[in-house]
Amino acid sequence: MPAKSILVVGSSNTDMVIKSAKFPDPGETLLGGTFFMFPGGKGANQAVAAARLGGDVTFIAKLGNDIFGQQALQQFQKEGIHTDFILTDPQHPSGVALITVDAKGENTIVVAQGSNGTLTAEDLTQAEKEFERTDTVLLQLEIPIPTVVRAAELAAKAGKKVILNPAPATTLPETIFKDLYLITPNRSEAETLTGLSVRDASAISAVSKWFRDKGVQKVVITLGSEGAYVHDERGGRYIAAPRVQAVDTTAAGDVFNGALAVALAEGSSLDEAVQFANRAAALSVTRMGAQSSAPYRHELTTLL
Ligand code: ADP
Repeated sequence: MPAKSILVVGSSNTDMVIKSAKFPDPGETLLGGTFFMFPGGKGANQAVAAARLGGDVTFIAKLGNDIFGQQALQQFQKEGIHTDFILTDPQHPSGVALITVDAKGENTIVVAQGSNGTLTAEDLTQAEKEFERTDTVLLQLEIPIPTVVRAAELAAKAGKKVILNPAPATTLPETIFKDLYLITPNRSEAETLTGLSVRDASAISAVSKWFRDKGVQKVVITLGSEGAYVHDERGGRYIAAPRVQAVDTTAAGDVFNGALAVALAEGSSLDEAVQFANRAAALSVTRMGAQSSAPYRHELTTLL
């Protein structure tokens, strides 16, 4: 089958991680341990995941005019992602996340959004044709909300399926929901967005109904090692993830969403797409890292 096209509009960050015996107290300077630098940002992670799983991916993002932006661009090209619509902000630096990991594996993260915060709704005008050409559009919330709203509008107008991974969870304008084919919060994002708790089967069904009443066609709530809950016009059901030995769950949700977009673009049913996404995300949690843990399509055949 020829690769189906997926348009991702979102963020790109460079994650800088220092391992440290403990977190510094206010005013304290510590000598930490090893330093690592990883490409990250939910948009970039999802674009890479979709490309590795066989999608023909175009990524719309805004990078800074600096070494981090240049490295990110090279990385996308290496992954076979189309970068024609990636913009450079001459004034703001590329997005950066400063992460400290302590001896217990807990982390603290501070993000400087940088050029991700200047990707405007007007910036999408140059790529309007891309919304018509693509099969599926994949969005998250690490860029300005009016840009996300505009991207969903352009895609819906072109009759394309829009998947919104509402992370990090923030208040959304009511107008966006009618443009969404699918929303994919994790448990805590679902709770933040709806104000309802996701404790048990009846609660999770009520949360899904909340989104569907607002106009979203289908809902997938990701449940970590338990897999995902799917709700559409046929009602709700759980779809289990394969059992794996998890070593690092960073970006599990990003791999899940990238995989979901590929399978839906290829014409899989929602249940088949969620099974595929569970397998890809489960494999990713058996490895360290964010983009580096995203599996290639051929690797999925070995995981039941
Ligand atoms: P996020 O990473 O956004 O917090 P989740 O924790 O819900 O989202 O994980 C997303 C998906 O990753 C799950 O739906 C599942 O497919 C997979 N996953 C996460 N943790 C595990 C795990 N321990 N074992 C198997 N699959 C997992």
